[in-house]
Amino acid sequence: MSHTVQQWLQTARQQLAQFVPPDEASMEAQILLMHVLSVNRAWLIAHATDNLTDMFIPKVESLLQRRLQGEPVAHILGSREFFGLVLKVTPDTLIPRPDTETLVEAALEKINGRMRVLDLGTGTGAIALAIAKHAPACEVVAVDASASALAVAAENAATLQLSNVQFLASNWFAALHASKFDLIVSNPPYIESNDPHLQQGDLRFEPMSALASGVDGLQDIRQIIAQAPDYLHAGGWLMLEHGYNQAEAVQQLLHAAGLQQIQTLHDLGGNPRVTLAQRQTTE
Ligand code: GLN
Repeated sequence: MSHTVQQWLQTARQQLAQFVPPDEASMEAQILLMHVLSVNRAWLIAHATDNLTDMFIPKVESLLQRRLQGEPVAHILGSREFFGLVLKVTPDTLIPRPDTETLVEAALEKINGRMRVLDLGTGTGAIALAIAKHAPACEVVAVDASASALAVAAENAATLQLSNVQFLASNWFAALHASKFDLIVSNPPYIESNDPHLQQGDLRFEPMSALASGVDGLQDIRQIIAQAPDYLHAGGWLMLEHGYNQAEAVQQLLHAAGLQQIQTLHDLGGNPRVTLAQRQTTE
């Protein structure tokens, strides 16, 4: 059966709308078709009444079926855009989220010149690579405990031709020995291990180790905060992404670790999402 671009989009949108909100359904239908046709959104609009070439229909239908089975769009496409960078994404990595752009913006505000930056749990490399791109004089070290995630991050660095990031297999600070940094950033796992959201939507397809962190979601954050002062230069900053309801707990942990200038920032959705603190400037 032949379809116009518009007809295919409308049918796909109706099917997708059974399990995602209508505006997302519409966008996802477009994204799948743009991917298969290798065109942009302007093309879809200009060619709305064109018939879809027969060879493309089974391809886009198979992607739509995968999406209808719940597979994340980022996995179907194999990539996700983050802070203007197109990043390879696989089931071994967290899918970068717009919330995390708040952390990158805050980091870039603190960075001047040739700072040493550490990204803990880099996943696709999203945070490290966005910083490396926008603060080219920085030297970024990005660690992850997962070898398969690190391989994805290193591939992203190569594709983006960013050579000021070094990747290292490390469970948080374990492999860093005596290195010190001017800025430590992390989007660690912070979801409560029995949170029902872990069984819903895209989260079902992402590595549990990148999402959940003990019964209160704070197990990894606690460890990072306890160890961070040893890896910060005097005056250096620690910046952590956390859950919408964890700002107070994170602030208390930072305070208990002797860090100062504690401050929480909100994401685009208005939720407290990033908390930062500084190691004292004079010893
Ligand atoms: N740092 C990566 C990101 O923000 C991965 C974070 C994670 O796996 N928890 O996308």
